[in-house]
Amino acid sequence: MNMYDSEKMAGILLEEGYALTDESQKADLIVFNTCSIRQKAEQKFKSELGRAKYLKKTNPSLKIAVAGCIAQQQGRAMLKKYPNIDYVLGPQNIHKLKDALKTDITKIFVEENPEVQYMDLPVLRKESVAAWVSIMYGCDNFCSYCIVPYTRGRERSRPSKNIYTEVYRLASDGFKEVTLLGQNVNSYRSDMDFVGLLKLLNTVEGIERIRFVTSHPRDLSDSLITCIKELPRVCEHIHLPLQSGSDRILKLMNRGYTFDHYIKKIERLRKEVPEIAITTDIISGFPSETEADHKATIDALKTIEFDGIFAFSFSPRPGTPALEMEGRLPDDVKSQRLYEILDIQDEITTNKNMKFKGTIQEILVEGVSKTDSDKLSGRTRGNKIVNFRADNSCAGRLVSVEIVKVMRHSLEGKAI
Ligand code: SF4
Repeated sequence: MNMYDSEKMAGILLEEGYALTDESQKADLIVFNTCSIRQKAEQKFKSELGRAKYLKKTNPSLKIAVAGCIAQQQGRAMLKKYPNIDYVLGPQNIHKLKDALKTDITKIFVEENPEVQYMDLPVLRKESVAAWVSIMYGCDNFCSYCIVPYTRGRERSRPSKNIYTEVYRLASDGFKEVTLLGQNVNSYRSDMDFVGLLKLLNTVEGIERIRFVTSHPRDLSDSLITCIKELPRVCEHIHLPLQSGSDRILKLMNRGYTFDHYIKKIERLRKEVPEIAITTDIISGFPSETEADHKATIDALKTIEFDGIFAFSFSPRPGTPALEMEGRLPDDVKSQRLYEILDIQDEITTNKNMKFKGTIQEILVEGVSKTDSDKLSGRTRGNKIVNFRADNSCAGRLVSVEIVKVMRHSLEGKAI
């Protein structure tokens, strides 16, 4: 979501006559699009901001803007703490970047923007094959560890007509894949629900693949599962955050489901769409998590065998109920549990990937591989990265590739 917001801010700046540079010492404006979902992201921002402060000494006309969730949370306090900052813009106010640049007075834009879903901003897309498309903003779920409902505001769905127009234009511009973005896409609701939206977008000629993130397990409906099964452009991949295998911890997290509820959804998904790839998020070391709770998460991983996970240690976030919870675990316990989770999942992912060896996969080629410039890189419908040798003219096309080698995070293939 933040990367997409950055593309929008770049689009606004391009319209204002700015150009992008990789060399920060040449910049007239530096925009930090911050994330506060975890403490580490905040620390990274602070050290980058320190570097920018020195650039301002050699280039006094340099402007510094801070956008994103840290900006939203800290607002005016941020300017007091860091007087070198010129503009502060929360995620609901990125469209005001344009106005901010027209004034020399320091500006703060962190107010609620109830119209955010109606804004169609210019986007400078980094990729030319796959594009992100926001379908909704904010979240109403208030998971006890999460800052999003406070920084991105309450849930608002974008009108289906605007989404359709954006996807139609992307197809006309040669894009082949769209990823629909929302904190909880399953609860999309405008003049139609999420299933209706998928059916509508499935009619856009030229778009070969439709993906979506993120789905909330509580709201994953049978009709959505049927859509994944029946709509040819909707990919067989779902990211369904579990967070913990312990019902007690799930309750403390305010997730709104039990493990039993979750696994029934997985069973239904696999029954209807046997080839579906399922990925998840896990938080290890939530306050008061016992060894038994941790073991329940390990057991969940072994039982479900996800295709991949994003796992992190619990990071207390100011302004969330979890910050006040008793039973905060020491860092070494959190890390040790996290490593255990990652080790077990590495083994599961490798075993799952082994099943691809010798199979022929349809790959949407995204471009040159990030790890080997002699190879092209693309993804399977299940979102697995495949690197293979082929002519550069394959970029942006669907090609058949035989999987010849399996790595933990990617597959190696041979174009056929
Ligand atoms: S559903 Fe996701 S975005 Fe919404 S509060 Fe929970 S973790 Fe945060």
